[in-house]
Amino acid sequence: METKIPCRQLFIDGKWVEPITKRRIPVINPATEQTIGLIPAATGEDVELAVDAARRAFARNKGADWAKAPGAVRAKYLRAIAAKITERKTELAKLEALDCGKPLDEAAWDIDDVASCFEYFADHAEALDAQQKAPLSLPMETFKCHILKEPVGVVGLITPWNYPLLMATWKVAPALAAGCTAILKPSELASVTCLELADVCIEVGLPPGVLNILTGLGSEAGAPLSSHPHVDKIAFTGSTVTGSKIMTAAAQLVKPVSLELGGKSPILVFEDVDLDKAAEWTAFGCFWTNGQICSATSRLLVHESIAAEFLDKLVKWTKNIKISDPFEEGCRLGPVVSREQYEKILKLVSTAKSEGATILCGGGRPQHLKMGFYIEPTIISDVTTSMQIWREEVFGPVLCVKTFSSEDEAIELANDTQYGLAGAVISNDLERCERVSKALNAGIVWINCSQPCFCQAPWGGNKRSGFGRELGPRGLDNYLSVKQVTQYLSNEPW
Ligand code: NAD
Repeated sequence: METKIPCRQLFIDGKWVEPITKRRIPVINPATEQTIGLIPAATGEDVELAVDAARRAFARNKGADWAKAPGAVRAKYLRAIAAKITERKTELAKLEALDCGKPLDEAAWDIDDVASCFEYFADHAEALDAQQKAPLSLPMETFKCHILKEPVGVVGLITPWNYPLLMATWKVAPALAAGCTAILKPSELASVTCLELADVCIEVGLPPGVLNILTGLGSEAGAPLSSHPHVDKIAFTGSTVTGSKIMTAAAQLVKPVSLELGGKSPILVFEDVDLDKAAEWTAFGCFWTNGQICSATSRLLVHESIAAEFLDKLVKWTKNIKISDPFEEGCRLGPVVSREQYEKILKLVSTAKSEGATILCGGGRPQHLKMGFYIEPTIISDVTTSMQIWREEVFGPVLCVKTFSSEDEAIELANDTQYGLAGAVISNDLERCERVSKALNAGIVWINCSQPCFCQAPWGGNKRSGFGRELGPRGLDNYLSVKQVTQYLSNEPW
């Protein structure tokens, strides 16, 4: 086995710790199908140790006290983490590309976003100091009341593999900014950069137990974390099926959860668009990160009057996307993350074909790549609204197409899904864009674009795409509990 990744242990209480069972999980490079290293496999006993460390770090009254320290102190650590991440950007981007198969320059943009996210929530940690004791105006002068925002406690953070370090950061940064202590459980399919985050925490001297990182399987490490009685909250990003299991476990203990789940988001292309620009956004919105984005706009609704010409341009665009090893210059599409995903995606495509759908381009493995989990960017037309390919999240480079004849029909088709994460509207008529964005049942709507994402703007979905919002000020609220403190000011009996 060629070892290309650092050999790490679990990160508990500020130290590297061997997993109790000493078991490890192979790390497979999806571009070569080769095992390139091993990550530790945590189980319930390791979860106990990590929860205990996080509880002690949360409750400690002297020394490195996290929850009670001013936000400015926590901000200092978050900024130090951001600076170290930036310093190690090249190395982290390479590890991310090796581990999950995304093109190297995309991985580098992710690492920039990681650093920005830590910076953003450092500002929020500082702002929290000013917000403490915010007074409320009451209708009776004999009382005064103020609001305290306090950290929720020890939080469990469970994350997926598509943006390994970035999805972890969307949770770790606000949780730490709020004064929570945390246990992060990244996906077993891509944990390498999250273990490097542990190394960064050691480098910046983060107090022990504030952040603990456990790699391992969902059933062995994620499940005991989500059902642990001393974990005060679970924040989860992943599939709707797992989200439902986590919510069920948390419900037994009336433990709060926030869930960022799957999607099957629409992109609506109206008849008044610039066809070239619209084709570019449509391809980007679905094929970026190989379609492995929860918010991928993977259902194209196009006005019937432009459909033929538009699809012609879109297919040309798509055929020009460079699919190659993530480290090759100009790569725009790497392999999908695992053999399981690869087989699942190809099966969904072949079922659609057998049900009468037409493959306009792609649909299989690129001829020039003999190894690795590569799938061509695929566009499918002649789909019906009852087909699995139209209804279910593929989480791969597959775009399905339907036409519409009116704005109302487009909205109805767009909302006819169990999901409600995102949607995109492409039109030169801005009044129409406004109308449609209000009518879409989704947590995120893009106008004349698809997929941009900023730390400042709330992220999350409706329906089976979950609830709660990450990023923006709401992202911090996920980790704060609100306490009213009311004082009686009079000496008279009430
Ligand atoms: P997944 O649900 O298989 O796994 C997510 C995490 O949950 C992993 O860390 C896994 O180990 C853990 N897990 C699995 N079973 C568990 C259990 N029983 N208890 C506790 N933890 C468990 O999802 P995935 O395949 O890693 O990621 C892809 C999914 O994530 C897609 O559905 C995608 O849409 C979704 N996603 C959503 C967002 C969003 O912001 N809404 C962002 C990224 C990905």
